[in-house]
Formats: sequence, C-alpha cells, structure tokens
Amino acid sequence: MKLESLHSRQWFKLICGASYQHLPAIRHLALIYTLAGADCIDMAPDPATIRAAREGIAAALEIDPNAIAPLVMVSFNDGEDPHFRKAFFDPQLCPSDCPRPCEKVCPTNAIKFSNDYIGITPNLCYGCGRCLPICPVQIIHTREQVYVPEDIFDLIINQQIDAIEIHTQPNRTKEFAAFWQRLSPIIPKLKLMAVSFPDCEDLREYLMSLLVGMQPQPRSLIWQTDGRPMSGDIGDGTTRAALQLGQKVLDFQLPLGFVQLAGGTNASTVSKLRQAAIPVAGVAYGSYARKIIMDFLEGLGEEIPDRLEEKSCVLWQAVAIAKKLVSQIKQS
Ligand code: SF4
Ligand code: SF4
Repeated sequence: MKLESLHSRQWFKLICGASYQHLPAIRHLALIYTLAGADCIDMAPDPATIRAAREGIAAALEIDPNAIAPLVMVSFNDGEDPHFRKAFFDPQLCPSDCPRPCEKVCPTNAIKFSNDYIGITPNLCYGCGRCLPICPVQIIHTREQVYVPEDIFDLIINQQIDAIEIHTQPNRTKEFAAFWQRLSPIIPKLKLMAVSFPDCEDLREYLMSLLVGMQPQPRSLIWQTDGRPMSGDIGDGTTRAALQLGQKVLDFQLPLGFVQLAGGTNASTVSKLRQAAIPVAGVAYGSYARKIIMDFLEGLGEEIPDRLEEKSCVLWQAVAIAKKLVSQIKQS
C-alpha cells in the first residue's frame, strides 16, 4: 500500500539513523511519524531498535485505526561508512579549561559532563562527526558500528522488517555484490531494497555495475541520493547537494528503480524540488525530522513518558509538527 507513494512521487521516509539506538526516542518518532502519514521508517538493524519502532507503530495504529503502518526499513553498509560509526573519547585527557565545544555541537546531546556521567552515550551518537574537528586537542575518535545481517533474518521471516537499504561508496562493486549475496536468501521476502550512495565520478557506471550484482532482483528498488550526509538540521542550504544529485541520477535513466533524495533534506527541500521541477519519487529526512520533534519534546521542560500516548495533548502537538513536514511531499 505504502509503495504506491513511490509511483505517485509522494514518498516520505523518516531516517532514524543507522547508528542511532536511543530506544525511547525511536518509539516516539515511530509513533509520531506514523500518525503523520510517513511511508517508511529507516533505522539501525538492531533487534531492540526495531522492537521500539514496532511498538511506536502499533501504538499509532491503536490510536488511529485509519492510519497505515509505514514500511520498516533497516540499513546496512558494504564497507566503511560515516553512517555506521560511534564517537568516543577519554574524558581524562580533556584540559580542565576546555570550554567543551563538543558538548554544544552535538545534535543529540550525546556528550555529557555531569556528576553521573562524563563522555559520549553510545546509544545517542549517530556518527555525524561534528564533534571531531571541533575538539581543540583532537581526542575524539570514532569506531565502526558493525551489524551482522544474519542476526535479523528471523525478523524478516516474521515480517517485522519490510525493507533493507545498503549504504555503498564509490568503487565497491565487488563488496556490494558480496553483501547482496549474503542477503540473497531473504531478498525475495522483502518488499523493497534501497541503495544509498554519495556523488562520485563515473557515478552512472558505478550504479550500473551495482545492478549487475543484484541477484536475485529486488521486488522494488530505491536509489537514495545522499547529497550531503547527516546535515539537514544545519540550515536551508544543505538541501542543494541532495537536489543536484537527485537530478543527476534521474538523468542517467537507469533501467530499474525509483530515485529518492536524502542527505541535507529539510523543510525547504520540497519547495526547491518543485521550483526546479525535479521529478523524484520521494524524499527521506533524517536529522531535520528528528530535530523538530526532539526540540519540541525536550523544550517542554516536563517529563515525557516512554509511552507518549499517555500525554495525548503533547502527542498531537508533536504530530502536527511532523505533519507539516510530511504533507509537503504529499501535496502534488
Ligand atoms: S556530535 Fe555527532 S558524532 Fe559527535 S557524539 Fe554527537 S552524534 Fe556522535
Ligand atoms: S572539546 Fe575535546 S577536550 Fe574539550 S571537552 Fe570536548 S572532548 Fe574534551
């Protein structure tokens, strides 16, 4: 049902973040964006994260029997990728007079200097990398977040996961094909596959080489153009790279797949898409979609229950904020 949105170019995907594992926030986001009409929710391929999202979706369907469950997508990588990393540092190495710019720049408040805890809370870090260059003594590093696809095969068989996305980078044709092979037993059970990639030289040839490795073929395919990764919350201008890459990939006229924007997408993306008449199938929103909700919830200054539906007034205000974003692509 939700796949129809791709055909009508009204596809809205929420990206929770391939490394983001803050379970209460995932549940809130899934609940709110399901009620707001999202078509797909993309998250870390981690059973606890998937369970939290499924709980949020189930709560939404109970509240509104007319709501339609979004597809649940999980993301993997075929090699090193900034979406799949966590930052860390040793607080004992921090100079005592450091003004802690890392704490201020972190979009998820993952970096804390409190009496209870000093350091980065791994579940809150989604690897955006903003804290790395800002540290004056360069003590913040990242480690890869590794997920094993076979760990979630059961969840696919039990229809808890509808779609898989593979993040790739230029010159990884062999790695991509090998990863696809690992997924081959369960690909026919998935409604949708997606491939996320940044711009590069000879991009058309690269994408065509990926198609060759897609055996068995997916039931549906999305090309996710990752314009400026994990940056949509920084400002309006970040959407430009996503638009340019979207147009570039549409011009390739690939034999298979829908083109969907991501990477730098925010409230200005759809109006710029319309102005430029770029006929992509949809838009995925990550950091911006999360920020508008989390800023609202955290800004209330009151305790938010894990079951957000218990505070119905707050829930519907959050849904109204999400709907403002979702409805942009839904208006043809
Ligand atoms: S700034 Fe980004 S990379 Fe650094 S801790 Fe926060 S979420 Fe993680
Ligand atoms: S910016 Fe670097 S040195 Fe300063 S508090 Fe953060 S991690 Fe420590």
